[in-house]
Amino acid sequence: MKTLNDFNFSNKKVLIRVDFNVPLDEAHKVTDDTRIKAVKPTLIKILEDGGSCVLMSHLGRPKNQEEEFSLKHIVKRVSEIIGVQVKFSTNCVGEQTSRDAAELKPGEILLLENLRYHKEETEGEINFAKQLASLGDFYVNDAFGTAHRAHASTAIIANFFPKNKCFGKLLEREIESINKVLKDSQKPVTAIIGGAKVSSKITIIENILDKIDHLIVGGGMAFTFIKAQGGQIGNSLVEDDKMDLALSILKQAKQKNVEIHLPVDAIIADSFSENANTKESPIDKIPDGWMGLDSGQKTNAHFAGIIRESKTILWNGPVGVFEMKPFSHGTISMGIAIAEATKNGCFSLVGGGDSVSAVKQFGFEDKVSYVSTGGGAMLEMLEGKTLPGIAAILD
Ligand code: AMP
Repeated sequence: MKTLNDFNFSNKKVLIRVDFNVPLDEAHKVTDDTRIKAVKPTLIKILEDGGSCVLMSHLGRPKNQEEEFSLKHIVKRVSEIIGVQVKFSTNCVGEQTSRDAAELKPGEILLLENLRYHKEETEGEINFAKQLASLGDFYVNDAFGTAHRAHASTAIIANFFPKNKCFGKLLEREIESINKVLKDSQKPVTAIIGGAKVSSKITIIENILDKIDHLIVGGGMAFTFIKAQGGQIGNSLVEDDKMDLALSILKQAKQKNVEIHLPVDAIIADSFSENANTKESPIDKIPDGWMGLDSGQKTNAHFAGIIRESKTILWNGPVGVFEMKPFSHGTISMGIAIAEATKNGCFSLVGGGDSVSAVKQFGFEDKVSYVSTGGGAMLEMLEGKTLPGIAAILD
């Protein structure tokens, strides 16, 4: 895999797909600049080599070139973060944009207007990709968040750079991290799969079973497994039509020598509310009218023990309704155990959706090895799919 460090960008005009789809407040101020900071190492490497950067991104889902989705709103913040006064082109294709790109000098950065102001971007239209491609002489993809889309700027454009293309440092790290879990992992490998529904995680579980030693199943999805084994789950979340699937996963795991760990107790509540009455219950004896909304103390201790002995950890999905304080303890306990294991040399990857928000909310972001920046893209990688944005660079 060719990486950014394999090239020297002196006097090169580098076209970079970044993911600057950042949240803005009503005054169009950036409220979370994580995605901008994430591409800084890529831009600095190119600028220090003596190259220039043409940045392409989308912002939101504009229908009619609405002003609120203009990338001009973020120019100031990007300039502050990168430490270079960023120039802005009011379109991403066309004569003026070509002139703006042509005038760019080494050490300079040009940000193009929102790619999705043109429907050809999401359609993956080849002529639009060709026009974008004409703006630079090297293509770098550093937008992991959109790598699962076959859009003009994320995949199609790479055809115009048969040799002059590579991943940016962020995308490289995402790929490396997932490979550390699914390919070159140190054993024992533990996957913690939580969240609401079995149905949304089934492809991930099936894909990783060959690669792991322990599977911890938590959160709402655990109740489908418990009920399928004859447990009484009261009013807990369940997918009755997925019980056979749950039993088949248990069987497959046994055949593949994967130890499955299900919760043994739960914090149960008499309504789905922060103010509900709560108590602890064995996981398979939840009375009618009550629902399991968090893992119980015995479960947390058991899960923490498995985590502590692991050398590689993948965490996808919370083990309780962490958004409500009374049901956040299981997820926090999981975070503490993973942080401890990481401190002792384990590699831990947190990826895909709500576990990322939980890790950020409870302050574990810097205590795990890597937090993925791409929700949907990470889920698709865990499912074993080849992402168009990645395949286009490797071609
Ligand atoms: P997912 O997007 O599938 O990872 O699901 C995340 C959601 O699952 C979060 O919003 C949690 O509140 C929810 N969740 C976790 N445990 C439970 C549970 N026991 N009952 C209902 N929802 C849950």
